[in-house]
Amino acid sequence: ELKTIYLVTPTYHRLTQQADLVRMSNTLKLVESIHWIVIEDSNKKTDLVKNILEDSSIKHTQLYVSTSNDLVRLNSDPRWKKHRGVDQRNLGLKWLRENITGQINDGVVYFADDDNTYHENLFKEMRNTKKISMWPVALVGGLNWEGPVCKNGRVVSFYTAWEPNRMFPVDMAAFAINLHVILENNDVYINPEVKRGYLETDFLERLGITKDEIEAKAEDCQKILVWHTQTSEPNMKNEIKLQSLGRGSNP
Ligand code: UDP
Ligand code: MN
Repeated sequence: ELKTIYLVTPTYHRLTQQADLVRMSNTLKLVESIHWIVIEDSNKKTDLVKNILEDSSIKHTQLYVSTSNDLVRLNSDPRWKKHRGVDQRNLGLKWLRENITGQINDGVVYFADDDNTYHENLFKEMRNTKKISMWPVALVGGLNWEGPVCKNGRVVSFYTAWEPNRMFPVDMAAFAINLHVILENNDVYINPEVKRGYLETDFLERLGITKDEIEAKAEDCQKILVWHTQTSEPNMKNEIKLQSLGRGSNP
């Protein structure tokens, strides 16, 4: 029997939200036995997200929590200044711990942001994660790719250009964790207070993971199956102009 993959996806209101989520749902429709936990950065559930989830026919749970004030990025702050999606991922972890109980024997947890690009085969790679599995992520960290360098199924080093002394210098999209590890470390959440770039390594270290336990996936980490694509903000110059004349139009 296929183990369930629990995908934890933060999402927030913006011009491209619907497009990003539809694109992601189209990929996830190709994958068996998934449970998509979508957490809106909002103070209520929205119909936009609800409709995408219902139309997709993917097993899902829709949650919401708006990012606590001290984590909100000011418009003047650069995109990287604050960690993004942390409160939402943590609510996803809390939901798993409260709702997935004894009778469900096994599963895998993956933090899947709504704007990345996923190859359907990525999910085959992570499905049988015993403790933690890893693979490279493309277009991240100012590099073509970043992540583990592997040999014979084990991680020998990490390829990164930035803070190489981190124990696990990888993006959130580079690993999946067995559900038992999440459930057995009930009190371990992602800590938004850590330095920029330390979110992942800090979380994995506190889960008690060691480098030699990492299961190398994606052809010994030589294959790219996930891209850290970022959708650019569309230019709304004319829309704003028309709206100011009372002639704007919403689809
Ligand atoms: N996100 C969120 N609230 C925000 C900004 C981002 O919930 O204020 C979500 C976003 O939808 C994504 C994740 O958090 O799933 C990471 O954000 P983003 O993709 O913008 O970060 P980046 O790729 O630039 O690191
Ligand atoms: Mn992103």
